[in-house]
Amino acid sequence: MRKTIIAGNWKMNKTPSEAADLAAAIAKITDFQCEVVICPPFVDLFYAKRAIEGTAVKLGAQNCHWAESGAFTGEISADMLIEAGCEYVIIGHSERRQYFGETDETVNRRTKAALAKGLKVILCVGELKEEREAGTTESVIERQVRLGLKDLTAEEMANVVIAYEPVWAIGTGLTATSEQAEEVCKFIRSLIAELFGAGTAEETTIQYGGSMNAKNAAELLAMPDIDGGLIGGAALKPEDFAVIIAAGSAK
Ligand code: PEP
Repeated sequence: MRKTIIAGNWKMNKTPSEAADLAAAIAKITDFQCEVVICPPFVDLFYAKRAIEGTAVKLGAQNCHWAESGAFTGEISADMLIEAGCEYVIIGHSERRQYFGETDETVNRRTKAALAKGLKVILCVGELKEEREAGTTESVIERQVRLGLKDLTAEEMANVVIAYEPVWAIGTGLTATSEQAEEVCKFIRSLIAELFGAGTAEETTIQYGGSMNAKNAAELLAMPDIDGGLIGGAALKPEDFAVIIAAGSAK
């Protein structure tokens, strides 16, 4: 059975002291039956880690470079994230693709490096509004999945989570309908089956992300191919995040 994973992407929000408070509030949500991950900014990681110590909440980061170390100003390595307590890392978020020049090739390089060091990767894919309107959603997703997962093995896929995040739904309040989200998540599973085999596809967690909140989480998570959520705005509100976690636990 594949894992249901509810992950919070804090983006560039919360100073270290604010992050400690938010992580402490999330640490109080104890009765869940799914995997819960928080992904604060880099400078907050130690503080968040301390706050969730002794709980089942896992720590993740929002990016990771492919090199072990060296002259890459502003970047961070997998070893650094692991020592800071991370188990997960988000790779290829649409904001990185849109604003920071992330490409399918760099997504693939980052993914391979993170996996090689033992991190679990939440690999984000998703179409732009214009791409959906032009009817090219599937071809965009197919390209991002094929190139993002290029040269990975089925064994490595055990540590990969795919997050389907339609770009037009991120931070906009516009959520994909549960049918739209299910359709693409199911398509992603079929691609994984083609690339790595039906068994791997069945085991791979595929999340939906894009304005998932306390109101719509249960309906989205009830869909057969939606195995969790990557949550931005609502992950900053502990009461709302708790409702989403409860919906994930009920799956
Ligand atoms: C995200 O940042 O991955 C995201 C889905 O954001 P939001 O939930 O705010 O749309």
